[in-house]
Amino acid sequence: MIYALRPAEIRILKKREQLPTSRWAEQNRVLRKGPKPGPWRNHRNPAMAGVMDALCQPWVRVLVLMKGIQTGGSDGIYNFLGREADYSTGADNALVVLADEKSVKKHARKRIIPMIEDSASLAAIKSPNPDDTTIYSIRLQTGFTIEIGWSTSQVSLASDSYRIVILDELDKYKSIVNAKEAEGRTNTYEDLGKKLIKISSPGEEDGPISKAMEECDVIHDYIAYCPDCGGGQIMTWDQFRWPGQQTLDGGTAADPRAIRRDRLGWYQCEHCDSRWDDLKRNRAVAAGEWRPRTPVARPYAVGFHFPSWLSPFVSISTIIAEHLEAKDSPEALRAWYNNRAGLPFSGVAADEITAAEELFRRRYQWWPDGAPWRVPARACLLTAAVDIQDNRLEVKVMAWARGFENWTISKHLIPGSPAEDAVWEQLDEYLLRDWLHESGARLRIATVAVDTGGHHTQAAYRFLRCRLGRRVYGIKGASDSDAPLCRWSMPSRKQRRQVPLLFVGTVAAKNDLHAWMKKEDPGPGFMHFPVDLPFEAFQQLCSERPLDQRDKHGKKRRYWVKKSAGARNEDLDLTVYNYAVVSYLNPNWDKLEANLGAQARATLGEEEAAPQPSAAGRKRKAIRKRKTGYASKLKG
Ligand SMILES: [Zn+2]
Repeated sequence: MIYALRPAEIRILKKREQLPTSRWAEQNRVLRKGPKPGPWRNHRNPAMAGVMDALCQPWVRVLVLMKGIQTGGSDGIYNFLGREADYSTGADNALVVLADEKSVKKHARKRIIPMIEDSASLAAIKSPNPDDTTIYSIRLQTGFTIEIGWSTSQVSLASDSYRIVILDELDKYKSIVNAKEAEGRTNTYEDLGKKLIKISSPGEEDGPISKAMEECDVIHDYIAYCPDCGGGQIMTWDQFRWPGQQTLDGGTAADPRAIRRDRLGWYQCEHCDSRWDDLKRNRAVAAGEWRPRTPVARPYAVGFHFPSWLSPFVSISTIIAEHLEAKDSPEALRAWYNNRAGLPFSGVAADEITAAEELFRRRYQWWPDGAPWRVPARACLLTAAVDIQDNRLEVKVMAWARGFENWTISKHLIPGSPAEDAVWEQLDEYLLRDWLHESGARLRIATVAVDTGGHHTQAAYRFLRCRLGRRVYGIKGASDSDAPLCRWSMPSRKQRRQVPLLFVGTVAAKNDLHAWMKKEDPGPGFMHFPVDLPFEAFQQLCSERPLDQRDKHGKKRRYWVKKSAGARNEDLDLTVYNYAVVSYLNPNWDKLEANLGAQARATLGEEEAAPQPSAAGRKRKAIRKRKTGYASKLKG
């Protein structure tokens, strides 16, 4: 009995050095399953170590981890659970809540119980009584208890209070009431080392995990450092690159299967443009750190955003391939954002999808199968807008009816550099072609807008100079909120352009478009979309949102801003320019409809196979007349 220790002495002996979770895991945790079984090594998932260790800060009471899938998030949090179980000396407890009973069985059998059996320090305190280690409840010799329940199980959630509560897969819970109740179980421990942990891939709009993130005192993003230039950056989807992406609209010719199989994708450093393959990405993440969006000295609740691509278990090419495969389906794209970008559907990117999704669902076929025409009976005027890119021209042709009801008729791509004449010749040919009307009449594009902003302004001016008479207009966007929809700007003597430009008030135009997009029934302003228009066009069309702000004089002004940085908006611009030129034309709809009727009757009266000189002749005359009108406008 002389050698028996008194309780105080036991406490002193037990008071060994407490390691942070990441180091505790390296010493104790062994993974049986997963991509890399064996002893836990932080370098295999460097970003997770920071999340695990944040929990050891005494002032941190709530931790929220909003993550993509395959990020090793649950295992990281269970390391903290193991550490607490190991270091705990008194009657201490934890509650783990999963989405459903199936998950409980899976997590308990494959992760939590193996963690206790395989970690030397925890195995030493495992109860010899098998009843103390079940998938619903684990009781260690020290008195530390882990209860495992699921979101609809009343039993486990109705019991005691808990110091540690882990809500895993939060956005998959069938009952949020129980999650709230489980949260409340920590209240008794408010000043006694309470730890509330919420972890999930985001799901629906305003889902629990994104709400929890919003309620955090501080949110952390991970900064990766480029192995080539040392530049730090938050890795975002905008910097992912793959073969075929640059040469077409939206990368539809890129082959996701080949990208996945041959690992063809890369991440491009935003500072030096160097290409990160998976190995370089791993090095960049290994050198990285979590950075608070706004520093807070002793935060109570901390949030971490952990997209899949920070995880070395996920290849860059897999992420790209999945995005390409999801691109044309709103549902799949939503899942991609949740699971890979780790972004909630109410986030910026998602906002863009919701609006685009609604328009996308409205696509339909207004022509019978096999019909040669695309311009429907009600439309009586065609316009086109041209966007100049470094490697292509994009043309959008729209049909218009009374009250600016409109149809997207065609989106056409002319590949090649605008520095080459051949590209412009092809454009001219396209703009001069005939379009068949439902009535049998033939229409030509009445007016064309060519965007002159960008790198190839001089080439555009050359094209415009000899085509003004055909009402092919150079366009420049004016983003001032007071700018009128259309205003001519004459070239001054000093300027090199020598072409008048139509300045388009983009704010005014986008306001109108925004209202049109909300219309649900055909009529003035309604937008008709053809059944074959890809989802990406809709995303571009909905890529901006209005922002009302006061300027420095206190006057309220409207701006249109991109919903997500790097979002493409070509289709929106092309629609704005089409609208600008048709409104500038100020069409006499009565006359247009009458002309079209007459032309249709004339065409029907002629032999089907014969050319139609009469129609073409009338067109030429009409254009000449308008040319005079245009010249007088220049003088006036
Ligand atoms: Zn770099």
